[in-house]
Amino acid sequence: AKQQGRGRLSFYTEEMNSANRARQRMEVELHNALERGEFLLHYQPKLDTRGGRVTGAEALLRWQHPRRGMVGPADFIPLAEETGLITLIGAWVLREACRQTRCWQLAGLPGLSMAVNLSACQLQRDELLPLVREVLRESGLAPECLELEITETAIMRDAEEAVPLLVELKAVGVRLSLDDFGTGYSSLNYLRRFPLDSLKIDRTFVSEIHSGMNEGTIITAMIAMARGMKLRVIAEGVESEEQAEFLRAHDCHELQGYHIGRPMPAAALEALLRAQRAA
Ligand code: C2E
Ligand code: CA
Ligand code: CA
Ligand code: CA
Repeated sequence: AKQQGRGRLSFYTEEMNSANRARQRMEVELHNALERGEFLLHYQPKLDTRGGRVTGAEALLRWQHPRRGMVGPADFIPLAEETGLITLIGAWVLREACRQTRCWQLAGLPGLSMAVNLSACQLQRDELLPLVREVLRESGLAPECLELEITETAIMRDAEEAVPLLVELKAVGVRLSLDDFGTGYSSLNYLRRFPLDSLKIDRTFVSEIHSGMNEGTIITAMIAMARGMKLRVIAEGVESEEQAEFLRAHDCHELQGYHIGRPMPAAALEALLRAQRAA
């Protein structure tokens, strides 16, 4: 029995070692990915329900890995956050998204509002404020064209710190959006203290519409609350025309999801914007 026990132990140790090695390898690769230009952004359109046009997009990070192919953010952002690399990667995302948006503007395409996701680790006043200012200056993008998406959980991690940071970002002129709304634990009291422009309702609530579960009562209440606070409301994860109809009927400002458009390479979004301009 003792023998067997030891055998099992060494088995686990080996497994752990190999998991550790894979992690270390990934960490090194992540380090090199920036220099090698392996990151790219896909853009997912946002539809304005009033005018029925795409007036915004969200930049979503991808890693074009030399062997593993296209890797999604869920598979490397947690490690990037743990290792602190997210600061460098996040700065690249911000820079690239602003550069691309300005480039479309200069090409005469209708002005887009570009949303960029921020990780909780990026919510450092001394780093984020100078970065945002610098990126806007070097790209020439007007601040109101940039929207920062911050998750409810990230903001609530240190809500007391977040308030002054958001106030200063707001003073720069960028828009602020509370992402994954409904999945965290923000009290309505705090919500009022954040200088937000919009709430982004998490897709779990959108998927409840016509599912037989709550029949969209939660989302209806969320929209009413956001509107009461004079915030714009964006629904993410809209996958069907039924959901889109429901959200339009309940005065949701913007829709995002596979039904509107998948995250796509820059060239594809550009084609969509050109087609829309011609229409
Ligand atoms: P998120 O900000 O909530 O982004 C929405 C995610 O849902 C995206 O996954 C998008 O592709 C996916 N999605 C969009 N429409 C639909 C739909 O109709 N149905 C379904 N089932 N899914 C939909 P993605 O691109 O894999 O990103 C996952 C998460 O990674 C994002 O969630 C965001 O939190 C994070 N992320 C992405 N890019 C960045 C970045 O540049 N920086 C940081 N810090 N986080 C990022
Ligand atoms: Ca987002
Ligand atoms: Ca979201
Ligand atoms: Ca989400």
